[in-house]
Amino acid sequence: MKEQQENIPMRELPVQKPNEAKKAQDRSIGRYFCALHERPARVFAPGVTSGRQSLINLLSNKWVSGTVLHYYFFDRDTDGQNVQFTDGTTEWFSWVGAEAQKEVVRAASKIWESVGIGIEFREVFDREDAEIRIGFMQGDGAWSWLGREILEHGPNIRTMNFGWDLTQRGEIDTAIHEIGHTLGFPHEHQNPKAGIIWDEEAVYEALAQPPNNWDRDTTFWNIIRKLPSNEVEGTTWDPNSIMHYPFEKGLIKKPDEYAINGLRPAGGLSAKDKSWVKTLYPTVHKTHNAVKEQLMPSQSVLLKLSAGDQRNFTVLPQETRFYNFQTFGTSDSIMVLFEDENGELRYRTGDDDSGQDTNAFFKIKLIKGHKYLLRIRMYFNDRPQETAVMMW
Ligand SMILES: [Zn+2]
Repeated sequence: MKEQQENIPMRELPVQKPNEAKKAQDRSIGRYFCALHERPARVFAPGVTSGRQSLINLLSNKWVSGTVLHYYFFDRDTDGQNVQFTDGTTEWFSWVGAEAQKEVVRAASKIWESVGIGIEFREVFDREDAEIRIGFMQGDGAWSWLGREILEHGPNIRTMNFGWDLTQRGEIDTAIHEIGHTLGFPHEHQNPKAGIIWDEEAVYEALAQPPNNWDRDTTFWNIIRKLPSNEVEGTTWDPNSIMHYPFEKGLIKKPDEYAINGLRPAGGLSAKDKSWVKTLYPTVHKTHNAVKEQLMPSQSVLLKLSAGDQRNFTVLPQETRFYNFQTFGTSDSIMVLFEDENGELRYRTGDDDSGQDTNAFFKIKLIKGHKYLLRIRMYFNDRPQETAVMMW
């Protein structure tokens, strides 16, 4: 028995036998779609106003700007899982991908970086160092957890999968799309501003066919369901977004042009994808006070941040011991600590107090002579003059 066997798939969809999946792709029956995992909607405490909820929902699974996301490709013979099929047979599926497949994912990460954002992607070869862990389990679809959700999983768990051949023409868009989910972007065709009226039964039926074989819940979650308006960029709908699926004709009833022709995004990042990702992830020198400011023990600093803004502090401990970090005031914020290892930023810990009456707080052991970076991003702040941070 191989050691990864306990890692059952997160979504209970039928895994296709590779030869069947290959046949489906060769014959171009329909097309493969990305399927996200279902998550319960967040329930806020009474008294959290709708404006505050909107700001929290928008940023709740986003990273702080300046984050370096490390990605790792599964590479051991034991990385994979046994899958039992309905005919009683069992087959071992590896998560390890060929070099040509990995190259497509690397290139896709460069495409996001080339927009000029406050997020970097760096490949690492030890799964313990990675926030993003990528498998190529054939027949298991393409998916990623959304934004910071990926931190909820241990080092032997995939946070992203590519279940079909990425070297086919245009398939780099699948890799760009999944990385978009890791950046916290949902599906654009679920934008409530899209005004798409589905032929729902036709959609359920189309997705139930190979190669996707989705059950109704998966189709509802990934296509039919409209997102809360504050989880997407609320102003307009972008049918050319990389986060938008293509749809063949017969699935959309309205708007008319898509009913007649189907809908095919232009491919690659759209102009709006680029402007939106830059808004959410400004490069760090554009955020307040790059990293010039040092946070000193027992000295509180007024944050003076508006919604979406971020401040960054260096922390240079003078002794090796446990330190407490906390925000003060009534704001909602996320506070994250990185260690600077010779210019390489490693996520150490973080806390998110959004929607709660508590403050962001963590206690962590810091090493004298090491360099750390504290980043604080504000979701909501009704009293900017009364919100502060302190370490002690
Ligand atoms: Zn997707």
